[in-house]
Amino acid sequence: MQTPKRIAIVGSGLVGSLLAIYLRKAGHIVHVYDRSPDIRQIQFSGRSINLAMSNRGWKALDGVGVGDAVRAIAIPMDKRAIHLVDKLNFQNYGQEGEAIYSISRGILNRKMIDLAEEAGAEFFFEQKIWDVTLKEATLHVGETERGVWEEKKYDMVFGADGAFSRIRHRMQRQSMFNYSQEFLNIGYKELNIPANADGTHKLDKNSFHIWPRGEYMLIALPNLDGSFTCTLFMPFEGENSFDLLKDQKDVELFFEKNFPDSIEVIPKLAEDFFVNPTSTLVTMKCFPWTYEDKVALIGDACHAIVPFYGQGMNAGFEDISILYEMIEKYGDDWETIFSEYQDSRKPNADAIAELSYRNFMEMSSKTADDNFLLQKKIEKLFSDKHPDKWIPLYSRVTFSNRPYAEALAIGDLQNEIMQKVLKIDNIAEIWDSKGVEDRILEMLQ
Ligand SMILES: Cc1cc2nc3c(=O)[nH]c(=O)nc-3n(C[C@H](O)[C@H](O)[C@H](O)COP(=O)(O)OP(=O)(O)OC[C@H]3O[C@@H](n4cnc5c(N)ncnc54)[C@H](O)[C@@H]3O)c2cc1C
Repeated sequence: MQTPKRIAIVGSGLVGSLLAIYLRKAGHIVHVYDRSPDIRQIQFSGRSINLAMSNRGWKALDGVGVGDAVRAIAIPMDKRAIHLVDKLNFQNYGQEGEAIYSISRGILNRKMIDLAEEAGAEFFFEQKIWDVTLKEATLHVGETERGVWEEKKYDMVFGADGAFSRIRHRMQRQSMFNYSQEFLNIGYKELNIPANADGTHKLDKNSFHIWPRGEYMLIALPNLDGSFTCTLFMPFEGENSFDLLKDQKDVELFFEKNFPDSIEVIPKLAEDFFVNPTSTLVTMKCFPWTYEDKVALIGDACHAIVPFYGQGMNAGFEDISILYEMIEKYGDDWETIFSEYQDSRKPNADAIAELSYRNFMEMSSKTADDNFLLQKKIEKLFSDKHPDKWIPLYSRVTFSNRPYAEALAIGDLQNEIMQKVLKIDNIAEIWDSKGVEDRILEMLQ
């Protein structure tokens, strides 16, 4: 427990609501503001947008005893189901018992707000924060940018207000504040695979489904109600792009040709395609993340990443675990807590941004590539035999809590070794031989 403070969190998204629970645990008065209406009052089917939760997310949830409440609304996926044009392959994600979990973002957010309220945090919805006075930890709330703003004074403010954060916006006007933002030329659109009439799933529900096609791909994650949320990732312009799919016929022909086995499970393909928006993907980096002992950024507000490693929320939750470690270590010394928090997180946020960017290629191209699948088989065999010497990169990121920066560095080293292994004569025939194993051991020295 710390000396109680009055703390405002801007943003009742996944990171803001979990942070509220942690700050209540540390003994503070916590007010959470969000510009949107209370998500618990909004009608939605619970289908749209789902996220994959992995170890870092679970660690943060379990740290305040809410993991089991979230497990109850999650579906484990222990493998990739890779839909090639003419066949279906399965590839386990990790060791026996290891899985990532599909969760509806909306259902999770509702649950997190309920849990934060139970923990004693107060929520204020439809309250847009336009600005913050950093030195005074004072929020400026109002209906319009040019209208009258009310001041809300706190001891401390957390900006958990997402990739286009207003709190960060104010910090950006400080000298020595570094900021970069890069949009991908790839957009995404959500589609839906409804449940069977008896409520069962049309595809294997414990798989992360992926249709890798090089520059573009389709993925599908299971929902509790028997449906799947699909996401089509594709360039905005060019040979296979959103730009070329202008009407119902274009879309149907494109799917028939490229995702033939998806046609019969997405009945409202063209309808969904033209109703649902095409959204953009951005990587945003900045530093510093804190201002004195008054204001701190957390989650997407300080490190928005592209979604190809399924780590954005997980990384935001890990920010909270690390912040809390600092709270336990430094007590009431908030200046040190903030500075240690940002110094510890920044290299790791940069590393997962890089890994996420690279993983588009792995998902969209390499999962369909024989050499890559061979590489994965060799790695798996070696790592089963020498778990102390080789943890595959995906497992290091997804099933461990070791720093992302370490995963990136070791992953690069492992990849160098594997590229040499793949060049060994006849590797496809002798991949499971003692000779190959010894060669890897030698290179690891
Ligand atoms: C297509 C896609 C797939 C993804 N898949 C995964 C995945 O599988 N696994 C994973 O871990 N991550 C995934 N992510 C990333 C994940 O969605 C984000 O990292 C996570 O939602 C960030 O949470 P947050 O609370 O920091 O921000 P947000 O979820 O953006 O929440 C910010 C909140 O702040 C509020 N707000 C904003 N501005 C103001 C203001 N001025 N005043 C008041 N309130 C404000 C908003 O209304 C919102 O409620 C995915 C992202 C995308 C786009």
